[in-house]
Amino acid sequence: MAIIKVHDKSFDIYLPEEKIQQRIKELAADINRDYKGRRPLFIAILNGSFMFASDLFKYLDIEAELCFIKLASYKGMKSSGNVVTSIGLEDDLFGKDVIIVEDIVDTGKTLHNFLPKLIHQQPKSMKIATLLHKSEATEFPLTLDYVGFDIPNKFVVGYGLDYDGLGRNWKEIYQVV
Ligand code: 5GP
Repeated sequence: MAIIKVHDKSFDIYLPEEKIQQRIKELAADINRDYKGRRPLFIAILNGSFMFASDLFKYLDIEAELCFIKLASYKGMKSSGNVVTSIGLEDDLFGKDVIIVEDIVDTGKTLHNFLPKLIHQQPKSMKIATLLHKSEATEFPLTLDYVGFDIPNKFVVGYGLDYDGLGRNWKEIYQVV
């Protein structure tokens, strides 16, 4: 067992690097198949999704665009739930095939609140790719098109996800003990 400590909490390894990479390759293969001959725009939501977006993008063999945006929504171990604002969306989404890239969907509130702002711009299509989904925690139902792992309703850290600023650099995902 590889227990690590971050701030006041202990975490145990949950998803090793190989398992994460293997699953992302599978998701990329699905996207390559579904978007063949198209040129989707990936909108990755910072900060947590930067590693997932980077690895997913490397495994794509279709033409694709990528941009990063930031939403304000989370502090510590409890989701504050309110999406305050988005920063960095300069692309015009009209007529585009958009794929939202998230690190984790928990209650679903963040995307539920944010998606109407994107839909307002009339993209041709919009799908969601999330590495992690806490389906037990769902309060705001969303259609998630590409899901890496359905995980229990426990706090996780690593592979882009932080606990109060730390843990984003780990190649593995750890779960709170
Ligand atoms: P939702 O709005 O779906 O409840 O929460 C989505 C956001 O909450 C994610 O983008 C992420 O920033 C944060 N979040 C939810 N669960 C976790 C978790 O277990 N670990 C970390 N580090 N962030 C989480």
